[in-house]
Amino acid sequence: MARIVMKFGGTSMAGTERIRRVANLVRKQAAGGNQVAVVVSAMAGETDRLVNFCREANPLYDPAEYDVVVASGEQVTSGLLALTLQSLGCDARSWLGWQLPVRTVEAHAKARVEAIDAEALTSAMEAGQIAVIPGFQGVSEDGRITTMGRGGSDTSAVAVAAAVKADRCDIYTDVDGVYTTDPRIVAKARKLKAVTYEEMLELASVGAKVLQTRSVGLAMKEGVRVQVLSSFVGDDAIPADELPGTMIVSEEEMNILVEKGEMERQHVTGIAHDKNEAKIILTRVPDKPGAVAHIFDPLAKAAINVDMIIQNVGRDKGETDVTFTVPQADLARAQALLEDKRDDIGFNRLITDSKIAKISVVGVGMKSHAGVASTMFKALADRGINIQAITTSEIKVSVLIDEDETELAVRVLHTAYGLDADDEAA
Ligand code: ADP
Ligand code: ASP
Ligand code: MG
Repeated sequence: MARIVMKFGGTSMAGTERIRRVANLVRKQAAGGNQVAVVVSAMAGETDRLVNFCREANPLYDPAEYDVVVASGEQVTSGLLALTLQSLGCDARSWLGWQLPVRTVEAHAKARVEAIDAEALTSAMEAGQIAVIPGFQGVSEDGRITTMGRGGSDTSAVAVAAAVKADRCDIYTDVDGVYTTDPRIVAKARKLKAVTYEEMLELASVGAKVLQTRSVGLAMKEGVRVQVLSSFVGDDAIPADELPGTMIVSEEEMNILVEKGEMERQHVTGIAHDKNEAKIILTRVPDKPGAVAHIFDPLAKAAINVDMIIQNVGRDKGETDVTFTVPQADLARAQALLEDKRDDIGFNRLITDSKIAKISVVGVGMKSHAGVASTMFKALADRGINIQAITTSEIKVSVLIDEDETELAVRVLHTAYGLDADDEAA
């Protein structure tokens, strides 16, 4: 007997027919004598619809009320799944964020899970009841409903798994695992049997939306065993217990898989893209100590995350251009803040560009292998793709390019690093 947390994303929960398929998967897992908790997302498209309502009601919406609205999507699906499980003869009960409770801290709309009181939940699971928990939602210190940022149900699932000390947290989605890149962009993307926490964390943070970044960080910290697998399977599918999806593993586990010949070490494990950033260029900023601090200080105070930064070498007149990226959602606010500080900063023009994309290659193999970045630059140059900015970390290289070239760049790099599915046989 094992204790399993199963999480189902939006496409898996899109409509009562799909929910019935989910209920069947849950029933099967429970029928094997396992204790099961299920974490669900809102139906596909529902959260976007609710966000739009908020924008229409008040463009400068209060995040606390936004949370009240957007958390409703998961309330609906958790109730519907509990009802469907009951119709199949299962003992099932829903537990909303405030009922467990899932205690969160920090800002509304991007709350972080602090703790889950799992006592009542574990007792119910031990008594054979299937717990159905809406993902994405929690409760703040002052008792108000909160949500955890887009894609937050993954984090809810991992947090529940950590709280009930689950043997495994299965994240069911619309693809059957983590691939070398988004399989919807590159048909030749290869499914990975396993990926390390560190690499998955980096991939998620640079745009591979299959898992929310925070969920991976939490799984790594709490040692939760996470598997990504598909809910779109027939009755003859390999059972989840036989690990048909992608396991997120520690470095040590990965070494064992490599030794056994079940995984091969590549310099690059995966490629991700992110179209949600925007570029800001400030021209003719004074080239003197403190100038850059004047730019980034107001942004930091407004909790706007700056990602890539380039400062050109000042050629003459003691002036320089500064280029950087911010999340597209924060662009208008960033622009307003900088305009406000125009005199302090002393720039000439503020130019913005939202038609950009960040392409990143990730792999722990980079730690010990030089030349990954130059392969990237050459492959892009060969296809005439211009690089606007570059950043690197120990296991990642990212470049900023024109948004229209995203798909081409991802495909070209996938081939350049020998990741195409055909290459495996070669
Ligand atoms: P869910 O609604 O189940 O949470 P998401 O849409 O959030 O699903 O995440 C699944 C999607 O992530 C896939 O449909 C796929 O297009 C995308 N994706 C991006 N990068 C990857 C990758 N490296 N491996 C698998 N899927 C990826
Ligand atoms: N429904 C939320 C979203 O669309 C949370 C999730 O699905 O993970 O972002
Ligand atoms: Mg998701």
